[in-house]
Amino acid sequence: MSCLFCKIIEGSIPSTAVFQDEIVYAFADINPQAPVHILIVPREHIGSLNDTDLRKSALLGHLLAAAADIARTKHLDDGYRIVVNTGEDGGQTVPHLHLHLLGGRPLAWPPG
Ligand code: AMP
Ligand code: ZN
Repeated sequence: MSCLFCKIIEGSIPSTAVFQDEIVYAFADINPQAPVHILIVPREHIGSLNDTDLRKSALLGHLLAAAADIARTKHLDDGYRIVVNTGEDGGQTVPHLHLHLLGGRPLAWPPG
């Protein structure tokens, strides 16, 4: 099992946990792009959003709802952004599905 995020989830690579339940593990990004930058990752190994379909609706909804819960916990009352980089053109570098939760500063649009 060579997946970086699977190793983080199982604890063989250290991380700073923010939230966890039976479905997701959320932890601080090692290279934060905003004052709050948290990764929300399913415990199940799924390569990317492109490897999901409607049969994964409950899991995907759970990830998004966890992100909203974490955003409230972090008091991101002025807003935040959820990003799901997908595939090469999407800028995905770790091939295990994850949501980025970015907040704590105004975020430019459009992204690069
Ligand atoms: P992406 O480029 O969308 O695939 O996002 C991967 C993210 O994982 C990047 O923001 C990295 O900074 C982050 N990352 C890589 N290695 C680690 C690690 N060991 N702990 C926490 N975050 C990491
Ligand atoms: Zn994985």
